[in-house]
Amino acid sequence: MSPEFIPPAKPIIGDEERKAVDAVLASGQLAQGTEVASFEEEFSQVLLDGRAAVAVNSGTSGLHLGLLAAGIGAGDEVIVPSFTFAATANSVALTGATPVFADVDPDYYTLDPASVEAKITDRTAAIMPVHLYGHPFNVDAIGALATKHGVKVFEDAAQAHGAAVNGRKVGTFGDFAMFSLYPTKNMTSGEGGMVSTGLADVERRLRLLRNQGMERQYENELVGFNCRMTNIHAAIGRVQLTKVNGWTKTRQENAAFFDANIEGVVTPKVAEGYEHVYHQYTIRIAEDRDGFAKALREEYNVGCGVYYPIPNHRLAPFQTSDDLPVTEEAAASVLSLPVHPSLSQDDLDRIVAAVNAVAKAGS
Ligand SMILES: *Cc1c(COP(=O)(O)O)cnc(C)c1O
Repeated sequence: MSPEFIPPAKPIIGDEERKAVDAVLASGQLAQGTEVASFEEEFSQVLLDGRAAVAVNSGTSGLHLGLLAAGIGAGDEVIVPSFTFAATANSVALTGATPVFADVDPDYYTLDPASVEAKITDRTAAIMPVHLYGHPFNVDAIGALATKHGVKVFEDAAQAHGAAVNGRKVGTFGDFAMFSLYPTKNMTSGEGGMVSTGLADVERRLRLLRNQGMERQYENELVGFNCRMTNIHAAIGRVQLTKVNGWTKTRQENAAFFDANIEGVVTPKVAEGYEHVYHQYTIRIAEDRDGFAKALREEYNVGCGVYYPIPNHRLAPFQTSDDLPVTEEAAASVLSLPVHPSLSQDDLDRIVAAVNAVAKAGS
């Protein structure tokens, strides 16, 4: 009998989350209310060194509203990676602005500052890098470029709760930053997103855009959305927030075990002073990545994932003729292993043994 399948991701939902949801249901206050306000306050304290946080119904809504609140719209260009989930570019396009794709760095898969600079035009309004896989983007070089060219920086921190650079948390660098609370992310609220900003006017516009343009009931000030988070989702998020730092530590320990024991493939690098929170532990397979993944799944029952097989600049809605060689190479060679905090030591041993065996067979 083959051993049990090890899933590539697994949300951890326990009795505390269930009790918290039950309490909200019993209260009758289901929509956005005091649970959401408490979640924002606690998220700010635990993950943002006190910077303001605004909860919304998804990470994608968070990016969209953040861009609108920061004044992005038709005529603007926003430089984004092509090597990311499509929500990054989608949110730019939804404002009427144009996503402009830049290449990534071969070591960290985050935006390459030289490629970004080559894409800057007089229409560039902002750069929106992604802290991909939980490794912060090059905040110093991107920040310096933004200052030099007078453009803004926004952070797609969907995968990077708690990541930091020299002790400074991601989400505190850009004019705004977005954290996703989708079930496979480092913590969840079911669906949801959290937007951080240190700018009072951006925060106010975020709150207005989230709720039909209203601060006071029926005194609508602008054309807004309904992107509110419910108290039910916030209750789950509040419990998860008390655990996320412990889970991150476990992810980092799992990654350290892989670093020390995996052989025959390229393991992830971490830049000096950077804290990686391992949303994904992503190895690189020089030849026949898809065959490698198939062997892990079918011969060893080890789940794995490719994030992301098709770069955004080649997806139907975006289709550009950009030449992004590092992106293309990464899309063809990356493979993410399970690194989530539910893995047992037996799972970790099995993953290492499977990867090493498949690597050896292919070499
Ligand atoms: C998950 C994710 C998003 C979107 O978040 P949702 O909560 O799923 O809407 C955006 N960007 C990146 C990089 C993501 O991984």
